[in-house]
Amino acid sequence: MVNVSSWGRLERLPHTMVPLDDRQRAGRIVSRHAPGLAYGMGRSYGDVCLNPRGTLWTTTGLDRFISFDDDTGRLVCEAGVRLRDIQRVFVPRGWMLPVSPGTQLVTVGGAIANDVHGKSHHRQGSFGDHVRHLTLLRTADEILQCGPGHEPDWWAATIGGLGLTGVILTAELQLMRVPGPWIDVETLPFAGTSDFFALADASEADWDHTVAWIDCASRIPRGIFMRGRPTVSTHRPEPAARSLTMRWTPPVSLIRRSSLRLFNTGYFEWQRWRAGRRIVHYEPFLYPLDNVLEWNRVYGPRGFYQYQSVVPPRERQAATDAMLADVARSGEGSVLAVLKTFGNRSGPGMLSFPRPGVTLALDFPNDGARTLRLFERLDAIVESAGGALYPAKDARMPRRLFEQGYPRLTEFQRFRDPGITSALSRRLMGS
Ligand SMILES: Cc1cc2nc3c(=O)[nH]c(=O)nc-3n(C[C@H](O)[C@H](O)[C@H](O)COP(=O)(O)OP(=O)(O)OC[C@H]3O[C@@H](n4cnc5c(N)ncnc54)[C@H](O)[C@@H]3O)c2cc1C
Repeated sequence: MVNVSSWGRLERLPHTMVPLDDRQRAGRIVSRHAPGLAYGMGRSYGDVCLNPRGTLWTTTGLDRFISFDDDTGRLVCEAGVRLRDIQRVFVPRGWMLPVSPGTQLVTVGGAIANDVHGKSHHRQGSFGDHVRHLTLLRTADEILQCGPGHEPDWWAATIGGLGLTGVILTAELQLMRVPGPWIDVETLPFAGTSDFFALADASEADWDHTVAWIDCASRIPRGIFMRGRPTVSTHRPEPAARSLTMRWTPPVSLIRRSSLRLFNTGYFEWQRWRAGRRIVHYEPFLYPLDNVLEWNRVYGPRGFYQYQSVVPPRERQAATDAMLADVARSGEGSVLAVLKTFGNRSGPGMLSFPRPGVTLALDFPNDGARTLRLFERLDAIVESAGGALYPAKDARMPRRLFEQGYPRLTEFQRFRDPGITSALSRRLMGS
């Protein structure tokens, strides 16, 4: 057995790792080693990708492109292909993923199973909106083909299905046309959430990407709003594909209550000074955190949580203000805090997280009971606003809140594969 942790590094727990690298043989391997769970790049923060003391079927060996149509932008690939591979091969040909999360180091299967969203939600919806077809392997060694027009219920259960309906072997994705790798970006400082919402609402029509960094230590919420859209540019060198790696885990979290306010103030002032318009390559704009690999070690051996909520439009300002006020009072949090409005559509999956409203994502060093008590207070705000938490980021939400946030859960349960289980499914669904 090998000790495995997810991105939050809260625990390292033993797993039996079974690689899948040949999709013709995958059925036999999966049925022989069930029960288990598919594991992509382990970029989920909590326990959705873990199955402690059980089996993980690792999918990164299923990394082949199968076909691509240059006229329509339809790509068929294996589920272990990383989003970075797609972007780097197809952007130079004028095609890009319409939706990608804040890191491109995730697999297609992982992106589908969490129905991930990006900065483009208000224009493009979530990842599942661009999945045209799936090949799903059930652990009884049975293959199922599904898509929005064929077996749509299986497709809707598998999009955002947390890996619990089967192992995705291949997917057909619709890419979008882009003029090149460049993004026209504008950054604008703001003070107060009403300023943020005014900027977000005003940007939706003309900007493909919107997102804000927020200073969660400040008593009056302030931050930097970023908006971008693909553009044409010449005479710019391609950026070197270079990133640093944090190879060492400090004995304690480097993000501490004492330094957070100072750190955030410095970052805010620096960004305010740099505010304005510029043209940047899509990689640093869409995936700034990929510049430092293994940055999650910065929180030390106890790891960290991410708390990501969504609340509906009518509650968006009151709930966001209440959560940020509580976080600021607590002195907890980190420099990584993101606020983004979702467009007026829900994800296509039965358990999709994206829906109309606003999503707030905050990282917290694991400070034990103190951090968990803060989360209970934030849960109460999310619950009374009729919101939900994101399973891809979660390691502790109460079952009640999960059931409230995902009203199609009972319908979803009918599509579960009895040979698949995860730490999250046992915690939140009982098996
Ligand atoms: C720096 C960073 C930024 C992020 N930003 C965002 C963001 O902006 N938006 C967002 O939505 N998410 C974001 N995430 C979360 C990340 O996109 C998701 O957790 C994603 O699902 C991880 O993909 P993975 O390949 O690592 O899958 P894993 O984490 O290994 O697995 C995730 C789930 O997918 C299932 N799965 C994996 N492969 C398959 C398969 N072939 N068949 C069936 N099920 C499968 C697993 O069983 C598990 O349930 C971010 C993560 C990081 C580390």
